[in-house]
Amino acid sequence: MNSRVFSPTLTVDLGAIVANWKLLGGRTQPVGCGAVVKANAYGLGDRRVVQALLRAGCREFFVAHVEEGATLKESLGTAWPRDASLHVLHGPDPGTEATCLAYGLTPVLNSLSQINRWQDLAYRKGRTLPAAIQVDTGMARLGLAEKPFIQLLANPEGLQGISPTLIMSHLASAEEPDNPVNQLQLDRFQPLRQMLPQARGCLANSSGIFLGSTYHFDLVRPGAALYGVAPVVGELNPMHQVIQVQAQLIQWRDIEAGDGVGYNHTWLADRPTRIGTVAIGYADGLLRSASNRAHLRLGGRTVPLIGRVSMDTVTVDLTNVPEDLLGSGAMLSLIDNEQRIDSLAQQASTNAYEILTSLGSRFRRNYINDNG
Ligand SMILES: *Cc1c(COP(=O)(O)O)cnc(C)c1O
Repeated sequence: MNSRVFSPTLTVDLGAIVANWKLLGGRTQPVGCGAVVKANAYGLGDRRVVQALLRAGCREFFVAHVEEGATLKESLGTAWPRDASLHVLHGPDPGTEATCLAYGLTPVLNSLSQINRWQDLAYRKGRTLPAAIQVDTGMARLGLAEKPFIQLLANPEGLQGISPTLIMSHLASAEEPDNPVNQLQLDRFQPLRQMLPQARGCLANSSGIFLGSTYHFDLVRPGAALYGVAPVVGELNPMHQVIQVQAQLIQWRDIEAGDGVGYNHTWLADRPTRIGTVAIGYADGLLRSASNRAHLRLGGRTVPLIGRVSMDTVTVDLTNVPEDLLGSGAMLSLIDNEQRIDSLAQQASTNAYEILTSLGSRFRRNYINDNG
């Protein structure tokens, strides 16, 4: 594409996503491995990601909202196989049950009112409808608390009209293997899971997979690790690198000692410095908290981001880069094999999830290794 186009580039390696899904599936075998593709597959493009994973054999997908599921199903059209399921983690909002059913989405029911509304629909349709049931085991976010769940099952009509496909819960601190909350949640989940033997148990997200096979039950639902995010804090990242983010150098200049750079001069030169201006800013998802902390790379060299991140640009210190690398169209990389999402996240005081999902609509998205 035209190098005069200043928008930053996001390269998504679909082959690496598939390899990550296989790597996770290899760890959980014979337990099935699904894929969480909510928030547009964490910003990478849900349609392309799902197509690649479907071809690789993945059959269980998860989004957050009915709307996301409907849009995804529509964009895939007849490419969606009959034997694949698309779960909606938040379940249907009041009034969206019929849409949920019309698009063949499987809701995750998180409350008695969601259960009742799904039952009403089943009653009106005159047939049983599949749904996953979520219980809360200690995150206090979504799902039925233990007591109402037990009461529900004690009532012979509690789940009438519903065929439960999954019994789910979500871990609060799975990326910290030594956190005792993991075992506590497991101990709460096991008996609840046994009360609904007709459904498959489903507890582990990406990090949960690495807590060991007692956390795997019948299906795991990784998201972040598919996209290359490190699943275990403080350990070597076993996942394949998936994305590259690059942005164009649009100007450079030499400044004197004592000169300030960027908004509010949060960086002051203490020596003559060569400053480059790069076309990526917080409107693209490069968080402002990375100001004066992140690094970019050019021609194999690390260049520090100096001054504030602006809306559309950042400034970098190019003093140590040979001038012949500074031609028009020079691309600097922000995320690549050398600097992965997790290190950028650390530099910006956030987590890799926020980095991924912040990558904005101004990126040119470029898909590689789509072996379909
Ligand atoms: C987002 C989400 C996941 C995926 O979590 P990762 O940490 O990205 O693997 C799994 N389950 C639920 C309920 C979620 O909300």
